[in-house]
Amino acid sequence: MPELPEMETYRRLLSRHIEGKVINNSNVNREKSINVPIDTFITEIVNKQITSIERRAKHLIFHLSSDKVLLLHLMLGGWMYFGKENDAPDRTKQVILSFNDKHLYFIGLRLGYIHLLSQSELKQELSDLGPEPLGSNFNEHAFLKTFEGKRGRLKTTLVDQQVIAGIGNCYSDEICFEAKVKPDRKFNELKEQEFKNLFQSIKSVLQTAVTNGGYMENPLLQGDKLTGSQTPSLKIYNREGQNCIRCNEKIIRIEISSRKSFLCPNCQQ
Ligand SMILES: [Zn+2]
Repeated sequence: MPELPEMETYRRLLSRHIEGKVINNSNVNREKSINVPIDTFITEIVNKQITSIERRAKHLIFHLSSDKVLLLHLMLGGWMYFGKENDAPDRTKQVILSFNDKHLYFIGLRLGYIHLLSQSELKQELSDLGPEPLGSNFNEHAFLKTFEGKRGRLKTTLVDQQVIAGIGNCYSDEICFEAKVKPDRKFNELKEQEFKNLFQSIKSVLQTAVTNGGYMENPLLQGDKLTGSQTPSLKIYNREGQNCIRCNEKIIRIEISSRKSFLCPNCQQ
């Protein structure tokens, strides 16, 4: 599932191409992917300009000139492609937004959705989310306030969107690896230095992944060399049986509250 760096990469690339553009047509092939009748959805968005694209946690928010928004969550398996009809991937597109000869395709939206909301509905929808880890307000003090005394395991707490927003299965493992702590440890049992390392690792792992364009498999548009460039730089996630880049020990996979988690049994404490 795309996490903060993947959605931030989408936001940056899409902003360049569709911010300020008017949606001149739309197709919905899967009514379950939206929250209103198809007719209403299309009437409400066609001839509206996309004034800006914002990211919050793993969501993208497309602000429309009507003051309504489209709230996107790709969930597991969802992705996007932007381009002409001829270049589009040969896949089922659940929702399409058209900008004259170019189209934004939403693909693999099984659990994912794109919802048309008013500003107050949006606020309500996002009200449970924890702080943005890359936000300038999220400093060591805020980190301490967020996690101090938490009894949950690192992995399950880091992926809890109500505690901290945007981190999922992959980056929670990467963050624990960077901080040299095992993901099944508990927050309230960390030493002071480990706690500080974890804060630094959250910032550095996510920032690096954003810079590298995240891990999505498919490019967003033709000639896009950014999307997915983070994948070869992942140090621990999905690398069971390979050697740890830090100490050469074999990486293992464990389960933490039925989530798969990867760690080095030697250099993570
Ligand atoms: Zn190691």
